[in-house]
Amino acid sequence: MFIFFKENISCECIERNIEFVSKFNYINFDFGKEKRGIYLLQDVSKEIIQEKISGIDKIIEINKPYKFVSREFKNEDTVINVGDFKIGGGNFQKIGGPCSFENENIFRNIAATLKNFGVNIIRGGAFKPRTSPYFFQGIGENALKVMRKVADELNVKIVSEIVSIDHIDLFNEYVDIIQVGTRNMQNYELLKHLGKLKKPILLKRGLSATVEEFLLSAEYIVSNGNMNVILCERGIRTFEKMTRNTLDVSVIPLVKKISHLPIIVDPSHASGSYDLVEPLALAGVSAGCDGIMVEVHDEPEKALSDGNQSIKFKRFKEMSCKIDKIREVLF
Ligand code: PEP
Ligand code: MN
Repeated sequence: MFIFFKENISCECIERNIEFVSKFNYINFDFGKEKRGIYLLQDVSKEIIQEKISGIDKIIEINKPYKFVSREFKNEDTVINVGDFKIGGGNFQKIGGPCSFENENIFRNIAATLKNFGVNIIRGGAFKPRTSPYFFQGIGENALKVMRKVADELNVKIVSEIVSIDHIDLFNEYVDIIQVGTRNMQNYELLKHLGKLKKPILLKRGLSATVEEFLLSAEYIVSNGNMNVILCERGIRTFEKMTRNTLDVSVIPLVKKISHLPIIVDPSHASGSYDLVEPLALAGVSAGCDGIMVEVHDEPEKALSDGNQSIKFKRFKEMSCKIDKIREVLF
């Protein structure tokens, strides 16, 4: 049961309410003035609540497994602020960059070129969760420091993937959006910790996760206090072997219907192939996603990871123009 407080409720009144519910199983939520209140995880009669809790605006039940991320909890689209750049609620971002950060020169060149194409958020993996322990594992901490330096010089934001709870402070310091990869979508301890931060979290769909499981993972972050979650559809595993994964386009309108969180599309990991990236990106855009994230490299054939699905600058630029045209017509 969700008990929403009135906008003008006093701090003393909130404190008294919290004191009363402290004997129950509850979550105290505060997402700004009009979204403050208490979520009671156990049955307490409405009469008792009306009597003991003051400053109530409304009481609602959400009969779905996912609660805080549902449209019932919040009807308006959530807009994520990444510095001055916004994602969601009609704000679209094209995110690009290498799969892995390799070295400063390569990263600066890719970031500067993409910035010239109007990209505000650059991706780059510092810790790489690779299928084989013998594949390139990423440069680690130093990569984040260099990415931060280059991003500040170019006035862009950066997104990078976290693979361990031990790295939370590091990512909180150096990165603008913390990515949770497909393999960690169900690392619930990690999600709980990320819920304690204020930073935007880019949550990728698990490779075999249902939409409900995907939203419940987002729920772990939001119910712990961090509403700044961007969902990312990156393809799921199906029987098809000719693509790396299968892009589930239907998840975009579906998530838009049942959740207020923004959702972006990663056509690179969905397809595994550079020549399929653009059509999948355009499919995602047409379906109403709030952004795309693609792997871009100046020399994909030399990339230390995911070269085959990385596109070159020219392709990125062409794709970007088509995205703008589609959005102009459709949205
Ligand atoms: C990535 O973005 O580099 C990545 C590893 O993605 P995913 O978790 O979707 O495989
Ligand atoms: Mn990759």
